[in-house]
Amino acid sequence: MNIITNDKSIYAMSAANAPVLTVLAGSRVIFETKDCFGGQITCETDAFDGLDWGRINPATGPLYVEGAEIGDILSVTIEKIEIADKGVVACGQDMGTLGHLFDQNHIKILSIVEDKVIFSDDISFPINKMVGVIGTAPAVSEGEISCGTPCLHGGNLDCKKITEGATLLLPVNVSGALLAMGDLHAAMGDGEIGVSGLEVAGRVTVTVDVIKGKKLQTPMIFDDTHIMTIASHEDLDMAVDIATESMVKYLMEEKGMTLADATMLISLAGNVCICQVVDPKKTIRVEVKNCYGKNKKAT
Ligand code: CA
Ligand code: ZN
Repeated sequence: MNIITNDKSIYAMSAANAPVLTVLAGSRVIFETKDCFGGQITCETDAFDGLDWGRINPATGPLYVEGAEIGDILSVTIEKIEIADKGVVACGQDMGTLGHLFDQNHIKILSIVEDKVIFSDDISFPINKMVGVIGTAPAVSEGEISCGTPCLHGGNLDCKKITEGATLLLPVNVSGALLAMGDLHAAMGDGEIGVSGLEVAGRVTVTVDVIKGKKLQTPMIFDDTHIMTIASHEDLDMAVDIATESMVKYLMEEKGMTLADATMLISLAGNVCICQVVDPKKTIRVEVKNCYGKNKKAT
């Protein structure tokens, strides 16, 4: 079994990172991951000031996938996400949407019992396991991109649809793609408004594959029911435009729809959803049901 242990971590995605494992396309790989704090928070009274910010958002990897060349697409199917039985959530001054209302920071360490988050004595809710940071190396000309920032290569997308059973498509910008991931969440709502999910260590089992001869406008996700495009931008309106245009292009190129039909379909039956609004760039996804167009089976 191919395993990358969580001591093999990077803090920026870059063509300059040396691969820690090389596999053939079609391989299954396990990525062991630290939580987004690098395991530095172990009790609720830990001071944020004491954190080593250079050790935030570690991503395990990178993985070199044989045959992945510039211009290809890397397909990453999330087979399984295993998480620790405790997670950390934080909020506070200058963090997230409500940072201006706080004059100090707050940390909760929450237990996960029988697939539920125990938030308090009287509040519990089901987990929604997801991968927060996942990406390939950006092109050499782009230098390095911090694992805390989402962009076209992936990165800190904080999209709750990147979960078990989903397939994520990412661009290949350098030979081997150099896939890395981390920042697992046991739970996170759309928006992640307080700046943190329920941050957990764990491990992710993925199958990686290479798609030749197709162009990706933005990262995409396919799951049992939906096709999704994801875009990140400092400005939420711009992110909506980019994700929507990416979906229109997909429907035109892969489903044979006209621009007008694709636009009308998204307007009537697609959803523009927020992934997160708290990272250096905000992330939007556009979701369309995976039952339209030329691939539809006769019913
Ligand atoms: Ca994150
Ligand atoms: Zn996180």
